[in-house]
Amino acid sequence: LRANVSVIQKETGFVNGLIAVLHDITEQEKIDMERREFVANVSHELRTPLTTMRSYLEALAEGAWQDDEIAPKFLEVTQTETERMIRLVNDLLQLSKMDSRDYKLNKEWIDIISFYNRIIDRFELSKQQNVTFERKLPTHSAFVEIDGDKLTQVIDNIISNALKYSPEGGKITFRLEEKNDIVVIGVSDQGVGIPKNNINKIFERFYRVDKARTRKLGGTGLGLAIAKEMVEAHGGEIWATSKEGKGTTISFSLPYLRTEEDDWE
Ligand code: ADP
Repeated sequence: LRANVSVIQKETGFVNGLIAVLHDITEQEKIDMERREFVANVSHELRTPLTTMRSYLEALAEGAWQDDEIAPKFLEVTQTETERMIRLVNDLLQLSKMDSRDYKLNKEWIDIISFYNRIIDRFELSKQQNVTFERKLPTHSAFVEIDGDKLTQVIDNIISNALKYSPEGGKITFRLEEKNDIVVIGVSDQGVGIPKNNINKIFERFYRVDKARTRKLGGTGLGLAIAKEMVEAHGGEIWATSKEGKGTTISFSLPYLRTEEDDWE
């Protein structure tokens, strides 16, 4: 704690009063430290693809462009790195929008079950891996008040990760459970899993369990941090359970008020 004290004094010299302003410097210092760390992380994340691109472009300029075999490969690397920087900058813009005070959700009443099914359909139609999908979802409808675009982004991020970390021939299970006053949405994979002591860190900005490998997979390290902020903006929670080598489940909850419109079978 730091105190700034000002003395209020009359011209006659008598002291009239004291004004003391107390600052919680530990809180302020924590914010400053997080900000510095964030800037250092962003710089590092941008420098890595940029230095890679510089060396490939240098090699191309020095003659590799004339080599029919090497040139397309080098150009492909610079393209991949550019794509990753675009994703990173888009994610950063998204976070900074959420940090601003006038961040608003565009909420509407949506049947979360058909909403979830439609997102799974999209992934099922476009997936290129040998992974099977299993849905454990209710067949009736359940209405929740959500921002559809934001929630689509949350679920997209979670499913993309499940696919990214799934082994050949693995299964992804999609769940939706109605509890008393929440619905819980879960995505389980049979991938590498996450070590126990890292499990809560995966929702922090830029945190990755295996930096080298996830970078190769094209991640920005921001997907789950964005998902967490979006879920919390809806009044829900997000968490992970995992067994190393067995698989991971990412779940999140949303407030749910049962109404008569939720037609039960
Ligand atoms: P990234 O862009 O690196 O995927 P995320 O914020 O989406 O960033 O995830 C953070 C980290 O959490 C990942 O780098 C990965 O180490 C871990 N992770 C997320 N989902 C899974 C999963 N389904 N299986 C294993 N690890 C995961």
